[in-house]
Amino acid sequence: MARRVDTRCCIAGGGPAGMMLGFLLARAGLDVVVLEKHGDFLRDFRGDTIHPSTLELFHELGLLDEFLQLPIARTERIGVHIGGEHIRMINLTRLKVHAPFMAMAPQWEFLNFLERKARPYRGFHLMMETEATDLIIENGCVTGVRAMGHDGEIEIAAHLTVACDGRGSILRAAAGMKVKDLGAPLDVLWFRLPHRPRDGEETGGWVDAGGLLVNIYRGSYWQCAHVIPKGGAEAIRAAGLEAWRARVAKLAPMFAGRMDAVASWDDVKLLNVQVDRLERWYRDGLLCIGDAAHAMSPVGGVGVNLAVADAVAAANRLWRPLGNREVSEKDLARVQKRRAWPTWLIQSAQVFAQNNFIAPTLNAKGEVRAPWIMRNLQSIPVVRDIPPKLFAMGWRPEHIGSPDAGH
Ligand SMILES: Cc1cc2nc3c(=O)[nH]c(=O)nc-3n(C[C@H](O)[C@H](O)[C@H](O)COP(=O)(O)OP(=O)(O)OC[C@H]3O[C@@H](n4cnc5c(N)ncnc54)[C@H](O)[C@@H]3O)c2cc1C
Repeated sequence: MARRVDTRCCIAGGGPAGMMLGFLLARAGLDVVVLEKHGDFLRDFRGDTIHPSTLELFHELGLLDEFLQLPIARTERIGVHIGGEHIRMINLTRLKVHAPFMAMAPQWEFLNFLERKARPYRGFHLMMETEATDLIIENGCVTGVRAMGHDGEIEIAAHLTVACDGRGSILRAAAGMKVKDLGAPLDVLWFRLPHRPRDGEETGGWVDAGGLLVNIYRGSYWQCAHVIPKGGAEAIRAAGLEAWRARVAKLAPMFAGRMDAVASWDDVKLLNVQVDRLERWYRDGLLCIGDAAHAMSPVGGVGVNLAVADAVAAANRLWRPLGNREVSEKDLARVQKRRAWPTWLIQSAQVFAQNNFIAPTLNAKGEVRAPWIMRNLQSIPVVRDIPPKLFAMGWRPEHIGSPDAGH
């Protein structure tokens, strides 16, 4: 017999979307259960880049200074090496915000921080090692979630269920929601290389015929992402580790003397990239946000920030109806209406970059050169500030509108 838990809102998934929403709703005085299937937040490959849009939200919550005390690096400028030429792409220092830089925070730091801030609120209940397995549906309305915890089956009865279970969302599948696949011609090989004192701290990229490498500064090491054609990992493995090491070293000569830090294929994770979105993010009793509503490509490193923005928009619109047990489909539609346009815009930009820049580069045989606009962007005063603003703040930044009801 399944154990039964009653709550106002059940959130499936303790990633950026789920933890931020759980925190904001508990802060507004509501009872919330967040289910996370893993036993910790120590997963390595879920994005590092906390953009000024999210830092500005932390400022509004009075948490910015504390967050910046964490062991995280700050990135003010992003440069890319294209065909041997170094091009400065993004300069965030001119942004008029409280934190005009990107915080390079491994996601476990970010999620542990949210958990620490949420825990003191009476209504916040985080159930780790508890996996949502299905929806409970009564008369066409979602009334909760079935889950499996370490001590057996649990039924969580909830006035509202929010699917924050990421790109492989089983809840959106259980709800029969229609997904539009936008395609992604790339996958990523994810590995670490040692940081050396003379390297500097600039997160950047290396682009040349047949390859693309992103290096993210994480203090004592570089987190590297080698972008490869979709499905290309098998052929790379078959050619052998030494050939792959040489290929990466040729692409990013800075790393040539240290590729043996990758001792075996066990040190290289294959990350599958997918880009999709739901036509409708909700049905009676259920809302999907974050990657569960729109799986993001790593291009631009925006997915975490978009997931957080979805959570803020959802909390702003739902805390009051949830408090009155009166969440209607109209309320849920308002969340989608608010977030659909920025999502569409960013995914369109990601797909454009994937198809017009990344895929041709991965297939290129000859010389790769940066387009004129890229090389000259920094010397055109008004225009140079548009990409950093969009990149850092997104389209339609959110603001905290839900209250703090106290602990
Ligand atoms: C290779 C790659 C690199 C990326 N790099 C960046 C980057 O640098 N910066 C950036 O901003 N974005 C990046 N992204 C995108 C980013 O990872 C996502 O957009 C973001 O994590 C979405 O947050 P989320 O909370 O919606 O989902 P997720 O981060 O996927 O979180 C979902 C959570 O739900 C849990 N879960 C799943 N199923 C269940 C279940 N059934 N029951 C309970 N719990 C469950 C998972 O364990 C997880 O904790 C990258 C994506 C890829 C593929």
